[in-house]
Amino acid sequence: MKTAECLNRMAPYLFAQIDKKRDALREQGVDVISLGIGDPDRPTPDHIIEAMEKAIRNPLNHQYPDYAGSAAYRQACATWMHRRFGVSVDPETEVLALIGSKEGIAHLHTAFVDPGDYVLAPSIGYPVYSGGATLQGGHTYYMPMREENGFLADFDHVPEEVLSKAKIMFIGYPNNPTGAVATEEYFDKAIRFCLENDILLAHDNAYSEICFDGYSAPSILERPRAKECCIEFFSLSKAYNMTGWRIAFAAGNAESIAALGTVKNNLDSGQFTAIQEAAIAALLGSQQCVADMCALYQRRRDAVVEALRAIGMTCEDTKATIYVWARVPEGYSSESFATKLLEQAHVIVTPGNGYGPDGEGYIRISLTTSDDRLLEAVRRIKEIA
Ligand SMILES: *Cc1c(COP(=O)(O)O)cnc(C)c1O
Repeated sequence: MKTAECLNRMAPYLFAQIDKKRDALREQGVDVISLGIGDPDRPTPDHIIEAMEKAIRNPLNHQYPDYAGSAAYRQACATWMHRRFGVSVDPETEVLALIGSKEGIAHLHTAFVDPGDYVLAPSIGYPVYSGGATLQGGHTYYMPMREENGFLADFDHVPEEVLSKAKIMFIGYPNNPTGAVATEEYFDKAIRFCLENDILLAHDNAYSEICFDGYSAPSILERPRAKECCIEFFSLSKAYNMTGWRIAFAAGNAESIAALGTVKNNLDSGQFTAIQEAAIAALLGSQQCVADMCALYQRRRDAVVEALRAIGMTCEDTKATIYVWARVPEGYSSESFATKLLEQAHVIVTPGNGYGPDGEGYIRISLTTSDDRLLEAVRRIKEIA
């Protein structure tokens, strides 16, 4: 048996060593607290679950769903886009339901990348941007992403031979893992660059709703000419504590939405219509649950940032997302510092190099652990100073 060449080229899993140490500690009965995973710990809000309970009893929902999403779901997405960002999208041609935005991002490569093509991906970012390209026989060009540029991926120096074969440029703000947010100027510059070079600009907006300190993240579709080259990915996972439900949508440029739809039509099926009905309740219902979650994450962020500063580390008061991104102390690598936290504080954090080359020298701490466990982790981290 021989697997595909492109599968053999997938990046190896980086943290096998740390995982082994964690498992050994747990085997010894040590209480290890994980701040490694970005998966909301709070339950899905009640009104969404109630909508699901009702929807699941409707036999019409038990049949094959429409692959592009029900008309009602796509309309709810469009209504939400308009209420939240003032952006108008046509639910028929500019919105597509997704089985989670990971699915949409992965399938976008199938729609746009031929063997030998390039995708431009941030050099610190969600692994699917580059993994999807590899699985299509394509290449990834990593756009530098440096702290001194506010972690805005730099596309000023893409070599000509890459640019001529580039099909998609991925960016995502508010950013996982750095917590960085983008300026309007940056979005405008990215749109200009992609129009000039005939590249699809894919904006991953999974964290648009998780904002702090009065900040409210924009949609890239608010910017002039965005619809000529942009597809934007929204997800209900983080905003409504629905990671397990697998529901999201893409919005924007009609040609790219149609191309992604054709891939989906051939490779997968639509999401369970009952889940789409619950998602409608989330999008069109009261957004108080979102505000409450943001207040909770903001308190947790404050506790984590204070602990890191107490042991002499530097980090920003992240304005958005469920992560704190921090530079490791002098003399450590991402991995050696994560190992120290594991061995001395019994706390798991994610080494930044796992997100790409420029992530070296940082760790990511996730805020999706219950308050008591998070505060216990914070206490332990302060003790190792
Ligand atoms: C969580 C996350 C997603 C995907 O979420 P889905 O659950 O697949 O909708 C996409 N992009 C980033 C950067 C994420 O962190």
